[in-house]
Amino acid sequence: MKLLTLAETARALVGAKRLHTKPSFEVFRDVPSLRDRRRQLQKSMRTVGLVPTMGALHEGHLSLIRRAAAENSDVFVSIYVNPTQFGVNEDLASYPRTWESDLEKLEKLNAELKSKTVSEGDDGASATGCIAGIFAPTGKVMYPTLPPTSEIDGSGSFVTITPLATKLEGASRPVFFRGVTTVCTKLFNIVKPDRVYFGQKDVQQCVIIQRMVQDFHIDTEVRIEPTIREADGLAMSSRNVYLGQRRRAIGLVLLRALRAAEAAFHQGKSERRDILGAANKVAQSILEEQRNLERSQRALFEVDYISLADPETLEEVECIGGKGRAILSGAVKMLPIEEAQPGENLGLGDDKIAVRLIDNIILSPK
Ligand code: AMP
Repeated sequence: MKLLTLAETARALVGAKRLHTKPSFEVFRDVPSLRDRRRQLQKSMRTVGLVPTMGALHEGHLSLIRRAAAENSDVFVSIYVNPTQFGVNEDLASYPRTWESDLEKLEKLNAELKSKTVSEGDDGASATGCIAGIFAPTGKVMYPTLPPTSEIDGSGSFVTITPLATKLEGASRPVFFRGVTTVCTKLFNIVKPDRVYFGQKDVQQCVIIQRMVQDFHIDTEVRIEPTIREADGLAMSSRNVYLGQRRRAIGLVLLRALRAAEAAFHQGKSERRDILGAANKVAQSILEEQRNLERSQRALFEVDYISLADPETLEEVECIGGKGRAILSGAVKMLPIEEAQPGENLGLGDDKIAVRLIDNIILSPK
């Protein structure tokens, strides 16, 4: 008889528990069943909000779902780690996949949403929707003909939005936005949502999805929600689990740099060199500090870019005019730590995986 490991036993117990408690939403694995459900909702004049995710859910995702539930009667959450948005040498294989705990979080959130519907409905206030379905397709469902490719010149049916997709994140990750816009087009075609919800944390993604919806006349409304942060300000991200204590603390460098630039802007600076100069100064001094430490104490990083760009074209701007707005954004690669200390609190993968952190602040006149 095969003996179960501790982890397998725990999974089996969770699975058994789930079998006895009926989920409060449906899990769809293929397109026809979801389309049937969507048609029923359409007939009863219900509204649908879609929140696309790659799972490993955190409060950032949950805040999008809460917003979608406040504005629609039925919310669909997609959980799909989309291979075409990962470059050939990127972290597709190691991307965190936490299906069981994702479902638990969604169940808990749905209980919260449903209790609101009842209590607010009782006093006649506006009703809140809840999660109606999770769409968790297989690769074959999402890419039914040619297998998904991460090669730049690979064959397949792709949606490309240029030049937006070639800038900022796209300069370092050339297939990334092609993958995102392709998978989102598929999701929008399958779910036919009235509204779709994206987080400002991935600001370039928001700009590109808005452009795609406009250019392809996609019949949905794009809603952008604020970045949810940890108590110290670090933007929540599924990839933060790879940061042990040491890299986690230094990972704040990007936000500190962006906030210095924001402060310069609010002190009246409008020139690119002054605003970005303030950010680069902070990043440089933190890097110097780290370089001067022992290998067993430091966390090194590389700044990929810190940008000041036009909110629609993503072109770099030289000067922010009187009523002008700009996106201040950046990306930092936290390098693997060089030498762990005995008993050190390490992240998933023992801090050996490089982690790309992104963040942004929208500059607009106060
Ligand atoms: P992902 O699972 O990383 O593809 O993210 C799915 C959605 O959640 C995207 O629209 C992200 O912008 C959004 N999201 C991720 N992190 C955050 C965050 N910290 N705050 C708000 N939204 C977020």
